[in-house]
Amino acid sequence: MISHTSLQWQSSDWQSILQTAIRDSAELLQAVGVPQSSLDTITGETAGFAVLAPRPFVARMEYGNPKDPLLLQVLALQEEIAPNAVGTTDPLEEQRFTPVPGIIHKYFGRVLLMTAGTCAVNCRYCFRRHNDYAQNILTPARLNEALTYLRSQRDITEVILSGGDPLLTSDRKLSELVAELEAIPHIQRLRIHTRLPIVIPQRITTELCQRLGQSRFQVTLVVHCNHPKELDVEVGLAMAQLKAQGITLLNQTVLLKNINNCAATLETLSVELFKIGVLPYYLHTLDPVQGAAHFAQPMGDSKQLHQTLQARLPGYLVPKLVSEIPGGASKTLIY
Ligand SMILES: *Cc1c(COP(=O)(O)O)cnc(C)c1O
Ligand code: SF4
Repeated sequence: MISHTSLQWQSSDWQSILQTAIRDSAELLQAVGVPQSSLDTITGETAGFAVLAPRPFVARMEYGNPKDPLLLQVLALQEEIAPNAVGTTDPLEEQRFTPVPGIIHKYFGRVLLMTAGTCAVNCRYCFRRHNDYAQNILTPARLNEALTYLRSQRDITEVILSGGDPLLTSDRKLSELVAELEAIPHIQRLRIHTRLPIVIPQRITTELCQRLGQSRFQVTLVVHCNHPKELDVEVGLAMAQLKAQGITLLNQTVLLKNINNCAATLETLSVELFKIGVLPYYLHTLDPVQGAAHFAQPMGDSKQLHQTLQARLPGYLVPKLVSEIPGGASKTLIY
């Protein structure tokens, strides 16, 4: 829907759009016409994880609907701090796999490079919600250390830009980073894990697409979309620009109770993503992170849901259902 706030970003660049993001639960409710009394919200401060919702994403929420699946992904609710809230603060034990700051080397042949410390949207279910992002900011000194590590580990063939959201980095800085990586002969592939093309599709600039298209790497961009309502014309245009540069487009989704734990929703998501050139990759079960227990659903239900998807969709439109189990050599396939 076109909301009354749409004019605020229509002609702006992505950085300006990000600056106008909503950072407060009450303001968010007001923007989508949901009365305060219909939901038990808390502030980002109380939650220990700021509220952050960019306006292009907010504009896709249904006005007046307190159960909107986009709204509930970004609104801080009382349930996050309920006395029975379970989970840990580093469910994936990523600290163990950090050989140098900014690198997570957990699986054979591929590493995460934490390119940016923050995101353009704060998803309430995120397993990184307790991370000290500042620790992972890629300062020039850390980048040098990370590059030295990448040069020394000759079995690394793929670098995954992660974060935070790597596309919060400016086009100029990203281009410099890609050039540094291109100079390391054993790296063959570059992957970018990002939610920005969904929440602020204006981030997909011509410069970015051209730079990635010119790279010697095979480039894959993995977006993070949880619900078909997150897709609109602008997202489609962003994907088309990337596709035109020969970039492989994949999607990962987190399975979330009351958001997308429904076969029809996930079926539509796969079909709509494929229309804009994106193939489903992973369907993640929720990580047991503190503050997100209200998004969890029993594993048996997740398996059943996945079986329904398999029965309804062509094989290439069925994402792999996976869990992240600390210590595993890969993500764990769930049957
Ligand atoms: C998910 C993940 C990867 C990438 O795994 P793929 O199965 O290749 O997508 C790499 N490193 C870490 C730490 C991860 O969590
Ligand atoms: S964009 Fe990704 S990393 Fe950032 S808060 Fe959302 S799920 Fe977490």
